[in-house]
Amino acid sequence: MKKYSLDFAKALDAKDDLAKYRKEFYLPENMTYLDGNSLGILSRRAESSLLQVLDSWKQFGIDGWTKGKYPWFYLSEKLGDVTAPLVGALSDEIIVTGSTTVNLHQLVATFYQPKGNKTKILADELNFPSDIYALQSQIKHKGYNPDTHLIRVKSKDGRTLQEDDIIAAMTEDISLVVLPAVLYRSGQILDIKRLTAAARERNIYIGFDLCHSIGAIPHSLHDWNVDFAFWCNYKYLNAGPGSVGGLFVHQHHFGKAPGLAGWFSSKKEVQFDMEHVLTPADNAGAYQIGTPHVLSIAPLIGSLELFSEVGILKIREKSIKLTNYMLDLIKDELLEYGFVIANPLEETKRGGHIYLEHQEAASICKALKANGVIPDFRAPNGIRLAPIAFYNSFKDVFHAISILKEIMIQKTYKEYENTREIIA
Ligand SMILES: *Cc1c(COP(=O)(O)O)cnc(C)c1O
Repeated sequence: MKKYSLDFAKALDAKDDLAKYRKEFYLPENMTYLDGNSLGILSRRAESSLLQVLDSWKQFGIDGWTKGKYPWFYLSEKLGDVTAPLVGALSDEIIVTGSTTVNLHQLVATFYQPKGNKTKILADELNFPSDIYALQSQIKHKGYNPDTHLIRVKSKDGRTLQEDDIIAAMTEDISLVVLPAVLYRSGQILDIKRLTAAARERNIYIGFDLCHSIGAIPHSLHDWNVDFAFWCNYKYLNAGPGSVGGLFVHQHHFGKAPGLAGWFSSKKEVQFDMEHVLTPADNAGAYQIGTPHVLSIAPLIGSLELFSEVGILKIREKSIKLTNYMLDLIKDELLEYGFVIANPLEETKRGGHIYLEHQEAASICKALKANGVIPDFRAPNGIRLAPIAFYNSFKDVFHAISILKEIMIQKTYKEYENTREIIA
């Protein structure tokens, strides 16, 4: 059977153990949604946990902090327990709190303690801007100049990073390294284990941004001895727009004073003693700041249930099959139209999405959307396509590629301006 055929895709769907989970999600009608790496789709379980938390507010008022099915006071810790298997951590190494950028600020404020000539932070030139802005401002807070003190490892091809280059840049003046686990454009997976071992040998702290890896690939943060990590829960974890994020701090560091303290950094038993001297929690809970955003945490309860049920290994297994199928179709059907495959080809080096480059990427994305296929444009010339293991089918992949091919053959993308929208 030809790979580029509906029957072939249907046969793959028929063999898919996770196919039954598609009905757990509210897939927008008449849409082939391939943007779950930017904003995951609402599941029935996430909806239900959100409604239950709302209901506990309705029923109990302030007593909702300790009453109801999900007492709010312990929610951040409880969900840390449920997140732990996704990142390979001990339960109390994780706390659900803040957002990616806020958690990065917290962790850098905690771990970046420049001393002597060890005063610089090492990052990379391909990282997401918010992470870079946070690092620059933290460097300024410590009285240094980000132009000289934020070192960005260069990419040789503009898409990926070489671990050797990163390790070579871990020089004596580096105090802290912050890197993505999966690059947001090319989807490259960095070798966290190797980079962490290299940092440790050099007496440098290292932390990872898991925004594009959590819920997509397995991790072993504890065993790899990663110092810290942080992420959002609204991409692969489907907890909704602006949902609360999470962070990991290795057990080795329990007791380290939070760089940015607040009353929720407190050991829970003494928080309401209202002392002016903080007794921080003796686990990752210490890196919380203020009152948790309970309503923005609530959908994560239901969403994580699905991950606990299936396990990250099965999710990764299907994700690889989906992206392999998509790559096969792209190689066979699309390369003649000027697309360049810009993600790593080896499946062990690739996260959950495919990244194509094309000079007309912005117009092509608009044409795809007009035809009900939802991609993600990344300026200046990138198209991200993320088939999500929980709710996308092989048929979705086939459909998206056939629409894309049609757009290229008919040149309908030329009807759209090659510029990005306000949100892209
Ligand atoms: C999505 C993403 C962010 C977003 O940060 P927020 O604080 O949640 O807005 C930051 N960094 C990376 C690498 C991301 O992929």
